Amino acid sequence: MGSTYWRPFNRADGENVINIVKGEGIFLYDDSGRRFQDAYSGLWNMNYGYSDNDIKKAIKTQIEELPYINPITLGNPKASELADKLCSITHDEITKVLFTCSGSEAIEAAIKISRKYNNLIGKKQYHIAVISESYHGSYYGSMSASFYDENEKQGYGPMVDGFIKLVLPFSRRCKTEEMTIDEKNKVMQKLEETLQNNKDKLCAIIVEPILASGGVIPLFEEYLSRINSFCRENNVLFVCDEVATGFGRTGTMFRFQKFDLKPDIITMSKGINNGYLPLGAVCISEKIESAFLKENQILFHLSTQNANPICLAAALATIDKMERDNILEVVNAKSTYFKKILNDDLSNLSMVFEIRIHGLMAAIDLADRETNNPISHEQLIKVISTIYSLGCFAGISYTKDITSSILIFPQYIATESDLDNIVKIVKTAISNSSGI
Ligand code: PLP
Repeated sequence: MGSTYWRPFNRADGENVINIVKGEGIFLYDDSGRRFQDAYSGLWNMNYGYSDNDIKKAIKTQIEELPYINPITLGNPKASELADKLCSITHDEITKVLFTCSGSEAIEAAIKISRKYNNLIGKKQYHIAVISESYHGSYYGSMSASFYDENEKQGYGPMVDGFIKLVLPFSRRCKTEEMTIDEKNKVMQKLEETLQNNKDKLCAIIVEPILASGGVIPLFEEYLSRINSFCRENNVLFVCDEVATGFGRTGTMFRFQKFDLKPDIITMSKGINNGYLPLGAVCISEKIESAFLKENQILFHLSTQNANPICLAAALATIDKMERDNILEVVNAKSTYFKKILNDDLSNLSMVFEIRIHGLMAAIDLADRETNNPISHEQLIKVISTIYSLGCFAGISYTKDITSSILIFPQYIATESDLDNIVKIVKTAISNSSGI
């Protein structure tokens, strides 16, 4: 019998696991004192690493001053301050913010708000379109909205009804950056067909602007813009899930800003407070707020810990720090360097199909040398195990026939030599595995 602790997304019997007892900067230490470089930033949230004094100080101060406020009946100045800040860094139509305890919970709320909004404007459309292979969370609504690893949904049904898949703009026949006009046209045609066929059913479209768990697959501009314009033309809500891509991870504060889009709802979490405490947010546009006000409706969503002031204080300190540090410039400069060394050192390895990198979010897509198909899950596990054994934590994405990728999400504070070390380790692991 192993530990009584059941790790999420793991079998009950677990395997041998590395027990982490201390974190310092970008490094983690296990219970035998061994040091690991965390090239995954926790679960893509520890952008400033494990020992940031400004964020820790804000948490300590808030615990001393006031550790909790009833979110239903009492005002919460930290919540107002953070909501104002999120409105100011998203876009001019965003006027309200709901706080949640996670990204999954933010998606639950976005689904409910979308369906209720449609009802408030006098329609009865409850279907929601989502991109094939995207991941939006593991609660019932967000799990139903996710088409990443559909096998894992088996036996938990029935799922929440009403989700429709949109075509994934990715083709194994060509590299992502080199998608031909023809390939793009095919994707656009398929997208249009699904949108037109379901026009009278949809209340919202949720997009993950770069599929993160799916293997760092970017949705190209024309695809995203068409979704945005379709939503505007048909009074369908455009929901942008920025849980993974938000707070500078891909080089803009939010990914939708790269293409000047205006989502009606933006969900976020992870980097919002450097992952030190559970927090998510749902940013909501003025037209939704007005519809609720006009019909005199409350927002029926609550968890006792929503808008906990300690979590909010950590977020305010994190965003303040990002602004003081001009973090987008930092991320973009590090991204350029990282892209160069990844390409210089890895792209010639026979197993590497392509390297996808946006900001500090990277996937090294590994392929079978002869067929160009993704390597098997078992082969991928061998590569990632070697990376672990060489003292570095990274992640994997395996979607049959689409991608087998090593995922690397370095911290914003990683230095060039830290990035060099990641590339060195990954190169060794891939080279050692290429005979398999
Ligand atoms: N949405 C996206 C795009 C995610 O990547 C994730 C988590 O990885 C979620 C939602 C769910 O967030 P959480 O794990 O905080 O519930």
